[in-house]
Amino acid sequence: MTVHLSPPHSPLKVGLLGGTFNPIHNGHLAIAGGVRDRLQLDRVLFIPTGDPPHKKEGSLAPAAARYEMVRLAIADTPSFDLSDIEIRRKGKSYSIDTVQTLKQQMGPTTDLYFIIGLDAFLDIHHWRAPLELLQLCRFVVVPRPGHSYCSLATMPLFPFLNHQALAQLDKGTVSRLDISIPSGQAIICLSLPLCPISASEIRQRIRSGQSLANLLPPPVESFILQHRLYQEDTDRTDI
Ligand code: ATP
Repeated sequence: MTVHLSPPHSPLKVGLLGGTFNPIHNGHLAIAGGVRDRLQLDRVLFIPTGDPPHKKEGSLAPAAARYEMVRLAIADTPSFDLSDIEIRRKGKSYSIDTVQTLKQQMGPTTDLYFIIGLDAFLDIHHWRAPLELLQLCRFVVVPRPGHSYCSLATMPLFPFLNHQALAQLDKGTVSRLDISIPSGQAIICLSLPLCPISASEIRQRIRSGQSLANLLPPPVESFILQHRLYQEDTDRTDI
């Protein structure tokens, strides 16, 4: 267990990890722990989505079940916390609203670090108010199998990116690249060990009765089996 405490009077460093967590898996825990350790964050706040704007909802487990699975997964890690801010919000939920609210609640003595997989970050120009979001908090991008940092150079939001520096990050010859953007906080791109786990593959494995070994924290696997989640393409809603 690693707990980092900032020196007195320096801002508290809080990571935010939003996701559908459908279900939460070892990949999520690995990136949260990896970023916490690399950037010496004090805490990481897991934020399950309620009604996500950018995901198909066919096999989405009820928010209460996804929230409970995150609670079980992080129960033994004191530097990990859980927020129901998006689950409580009615209607569509947008990251910009979440970050604005958390910034207000936590105040100027807290610096927020929005942790995100490269796959999701490559889609950020489709989010609501992406430029404003980039101004509100630092983004920390982590690698995801099947996606390269070089693809960032093709994004309309970042026409100024240096392809060579991104290629070095992909190759692992540099371990961190800070991208300063004209009207925002720096985006921190990290090289972390690649973790080839996805929630969609886990759901697929459950449907076809395959092993879930090393993919999920054991209490999450028990919860899924107990409540017969992800057995069919449409999920149960009676828990
Ligand atoms: P799905 O397979 O259903 O799309 P997912 O595994 O991507 O789900 P999400 O809850 O959508 O899980 O992910 C939340 C955040 O965690 C996103 O920013 C995503 O990019 C990141 N993430 C999830 N799994 C990994 C992984 N194995 N490596 C790096 N980042 C990951």
